Order: sequence, then structure tokens, then C-alpha cells
Amino acid sequence: MRAARFHPGDGLRIEEVPRPDVGPGDLLVEIAACGVCHSDLHLLDGDMPIPRPTTLGHEVAGTVVETGEGVDVAEGTGVAVFGGWGCRACEVCERGEDQLCNLANWLGIGNDGGYADYLRVPAAKYVLPLDGLDPTTAAPLTDAALTPYRAVRQAGDLVPADTVVCIGIGGLGQFGVQFAAMAGAQVVAVDLNESKLARARELGADATVNAAEERVPAAISDVAAGRVAAALDFVGSDDTLQWASNALGVGGHLVLAGIGGGSIDFSWNPLAGEELTYRTVQWGSVPELRDVLTVARRGDLTVRTEPVGFDDLQSTLDRLRAGEVDTRAVLTP
Ligand code: ZN
Ligand code: ZN
Repeated sequence: MRAARFHPGDGLRIEEVPRPDVGPGDLLVEIAACGVCHSDLHLLDGDMPIPRPTTLGHEVAGTVVETGEGVDVAEGTGVAVFGGWGCRACEVCERGEDQLCNLANWLGIGNDGGYADYLRVPAAKYVLPLDGLDPTTAAPLTDAALTPYRAVRQAGDLVPADTVVCIGIGGLGQFGVQFAAMAGAQVVAVDLNESKLARARELGADATVNAAEERVPAAISDVAAGRVAAALDFVGSDDTLQWASNALGVGGHLVLAGIGGGSIDFSWNPLAGEELTYRTVQWGSVPELRDVLTVARRGDLTVRTEPVGFDDLQSTLDRLRAGEVDTRAVLTP
């Protein structure tokens, strides 16, 4: 089969590799679609260490074509693959938060991923039925929508009078805007790019702030119609974290989902009543992915995708790096 494999220090290569073997408990999925994610650029850049050659791609949907002993999933079932694989034995995995077990187990990071014709999945709990969803639509939902869904869930108990700020309207931020709007809050979108802000307004943002032209915290307070209860940072730079923190109202939540590597001081503030919560989110859980698929099946999520082939994968990653992919690129092998 074909696979796009990352060789540490030497980039991505499209190679012929053996189809994975299926052992007890495993499933073999014929891949219909794999989302091309900004995280892959961080992997290619060495920001997250990958010790050995690995097939990248962690947003997979396809069809179960083979099952190992003990697996009760019918062959031919269309599935979305949950990618935050864990050990499946610890207390964290037992409550369905396998993505928090050990990042080294994740699909497309510690294990061969979905830029390939076939994928071995180690457990039936990691495949969720598509039940009518198109695989090209479903693939990016497994991360690009799942992570912002968790971010909104971690944003405190939102009420309709609250304002939620979404920073960075790329692949994840476009879903962040939609979920924050669904939660009932006023949504303020922040980005450097006017076309991404226009996109945010189409997806339900009530107001936008162009960070290239305005002083961000002041511009947010100008347009916020209620307490800024949460700021969701889908970038993760020093600047975006500072904007998020400065925008928050009393008791606000800063939720960091972007893996840009920025940081921010955390200290008691003698000048203001604050009681802020800072937290990170890492991907989402199995039950949260089930929720995301339910919302998508209901027709309540706008998912724009652009199918690309193996031959276009490298140029697509280059375009993603240059900020030129407005939709979600999806490899359809
Ligand atoms: Zn991703
Ligand atoms: Zn575990």
C-alpha cells in the first residue's frame, strides 16, 4: 500500500509499504479520507519528537475491511477513527479519556497514521460508526472539530449573556466559533486575516477583531456585549495568550488549544479581582467525539473540505504553512 512517511531529519516521503497485519483485538480500516492538519507541520518541524519513521495523519475515516479475534464490528462498517490512542488499561483510559494517557500512543504520532491506504486500529473502542456521515466530512471532525468542542466544554458554565473570544480562525478556530455560538454565547473572533474573519462571521461570530489593525484587548472590550467568560486560543503564541488573558472578565477561563508553543506568566494580581482559570486541552475524549459526530449528523456543523491526492500532499502542507488553505484539506487516497 502507499503511505506518506515522515523520516525524522529528512521530511516526508511517499512509499510502498506492507499492508498492516491484523492481530487479536485489531481492526483494519481502508482509508477513505484523512484530514491534513496544521499539527503535522509541527511534527515535520520536530516540535514534537517522533523517534522513528512514522506514517503521519491523525484524522481518519474509512471502512472496516478486516477484524481480529474478539472484535464485534461488522466488516463493511463506515467509521470515524478516534486518534488519541492510549494504553486501554489505566484509570484515565477507563473513563474514555485515552488521549490523556500518553501522547506517544497517539495515531500518526507514536503509531502509523492515516496518510496511507490502510490503517490498523488497535481496539474497537476507537472506531465510531459514521451512520450516514460522508467520510470526507467526518475525517476532520475527529480532531479539527473535536479539540474545539472540548475547548468550549472547558470554558466554564457559559450562559447566553456571556461573551466567548475565539483567537485564530484556522482549521480548529472555525469549529470553535460554531460550538461557542451553539453554547449560546456572544462570539468574538480574532485573526490577522480579513478573509478568515469574514469566514468567522458566516459561521456565527457576532463580532470580529482584526489583530493586524487593532489593539486586541481594547478592541474586544469595545465589541463585547457581556462578560468575557472565556477566551479560546487556537494559536498558542506569546501574543495570543496575552490577548486572551487581558480580555477575560472576572472568573474567566483561558483555554489553550493551539500548539504554537507560547507561554504566559501566571500570578496573583494585586490590582484586580480576577480569579482566572488557565487551562490547556489536549485533543478530546471518545465520548466527546461521539457528541461531535451527533451534531454533524444533525446538520448543525458547517464543514468545508478540499480533497487532495497523494501527489498533492506535500504541496498542500506547503500551502497550509503559508496560510493559503481556507477550508480543510483532506487526503482521499
Ligand atoms: Zn489534526
Ligand atoms: Zn491509559
